[in-house]
Amino acid sequence: MTAIRNYQPSKELLKNRVILVTGAGDGIGRVAAKTYAEHGATVILLGRTSKKLEAVYDEIVAQDSPQPLIHPLDLELATPDDYDLLANAISDELGRLDGVLHNASILGKRTPIANYDINSWCQVMHVNVTAQLMLTQALLPLLEKSEDASIIFTSSGVGRKSRAFWGAYAVSKFATEGLMETLADELDGVTNIRVNCINPGATRTRMRAQAYPAEDVKLNPYPEQIMSTYLYLMGPDGKTVQGQSLNAQ
Ligand code: NDP
Repeated sequence: MTAIRNYQPSKELLKNRVILVTGAGDGIGRVAAKTYAEHGATVILLGRTSKKLEAVYDEIVAQDSPQPLIHPLDLELATPDDYDLLANAISDELGRLDGVLHNASILGKRTPIANYDINSWCQVMHVNVTAQLMLTQALLPLLEKSEDASIIFTSSGVGRKSRAFWGAYAVSKFATEGLMETLADELDGVTNIRVNCINPGATRTRMRAQAYPAEDVKLNPYPEQIMSTYLYLMGPDGKTVQGQSLNAQ
């Protein structure tokens, strides 16, 4: 599906909603968290670097948005118990959950499949796929209680058509698309949860610079410029969209 263009979300689009964003300390996740908060959501900032999450927390408070929550967690190390603790904390402190943006990912090495280091492969597949599955499993009971819940996974162009040397990253994004489609089909019609993917497209972040070190960064938009699709899918206007993979650009 193509990008949602000329979308005019209301200032209160996400009022009274609780939304968790992974990788909220930097890049697209940081801006998505701030944008959701700006539209009224109480945001749970999940990431591995507390200092970055604290900075985003301060930015959200400074923009007069609802007070967010910080939940430091390293997706590489977290166990099912850690995810259950998170779900219990959300239930105790906020009493509800209406959305999850699975945004955190790692790029891993960009080398040929023939000699892709197996430890590095497992690390990428774990952070980019298995951790998202575990987090989703723990949060589903809370999401099921919402009248309108949205789960968004983050894909990539190489998660739909791969290219040489993109290794585990590309394979993990194909798996993300598969996880999204499977879950969407399982939940469709029997819950109020919709499940979709966003491919942000080339965006000016640290990961993009890491993947394309020789590229002129000015060619790519800032995360702030691609937020329409993130808002549309998270809010009530995207209620009928299920099992789709959208481009943000
Ligand atoms: P960044 O590298 O800028 O940000 C990634 C975020 O994920 C960081 O906050 C990082 O934390 C966090 N993170 C990484 N590993 C872990 C972990 N083990 N546990 C918890 N948090 C973790 O990436 P982008 O903002 O560019 O990318 C966001 C998403 O968009 C990713 O899924 C990426 O694959 C996808 N994407 C991006 C594109 C682009 O051009 N930028 C294009 C296509 C897809 P910390 O800051 O502490 O390292």
